[in-house]
Amino acid sequence: VFSRPWTFIRGAPAMKFLPPEGPPEVAFAGRSNVGKSSLINALLSRRGLARTSNTPGRTQELNFFVPEGYSGTDGDLPPMALIDMPGYGFAKAPKEQVDAWTKLVFDYLRGRVTLKRVFLLIDARHGIKKNDEEVMDLLDKAAVSYQVVLTKADKIKPPAVLRLLGETETRLKKRAAAYPQIVATSSEKGEGLDELRDAIALAVNG
Ligand code: GDP
Repeated sequence: VFSRPWTFIRGAPAMKFLPPEGPPEVAFAGRSNVGKSSLINALLSRRGLARTSNTPGRTQELNFFVPEGYSGTDGDLPPMALIDMPGYGFAKAPKEQVDAWTKLVFDYLRGRVTLKRVFLLIDARHGIKKNDEEVMDLLDKAAVSYQVVLTKADKIKPPAVLRLLGETETRLKKRAAAYPQIVATSSEKGEGLDELRDAIALAVNG
């Protein structure tokens, strides 16, 4: 599916605006500015498909992407969908915005039967932060499988990437007996993208 062009279907600010459940889905989550738009664009080889922006607190929507070339009717469904979840964790967010985020995301995580896995993006320079832990709590509570993806790995030296992989593993081991392999990526250098594509395919087909 990653050799095809992908397209944006719609943004859903609330559950009722979601497209009907159909193909298996994976979702991308992470703190705002973690490099989520850049990673989605790099994965799908589409510059500007997911908006790259440093402005925190944009419209909070679940953005749906699918491979092109499927009508969506009469069983002609795309093999999968990718959902870009709104970023979290910007410092100045008012409480009502955080609450709205939590409601939208938790409703989605709990209610979406076709959601196969959430890819949780962590900035390689910062590691897992408190609000990332809170999102992991939410994922655990909703019983949704998740896989940690380190972003911007080019910004730190290879030994530091290895050290962070080890630290992140330790954190994950405290939460669960088993967890999917952590993937280190750089959208800028293309590092880890094929590994991530394979992980997505596994999550969708497994
Ligand atoms: P988002 O808010 O999570 O969607 O983050 P963006 O994709 O907009 O990226 C935030 C900033 O990080 C931008 O200035 C990007 O250019 C930069 N960035 C994203 N990915 C990478 C990467 O792999 N390497 C480097 N060096 N910078 C990156």
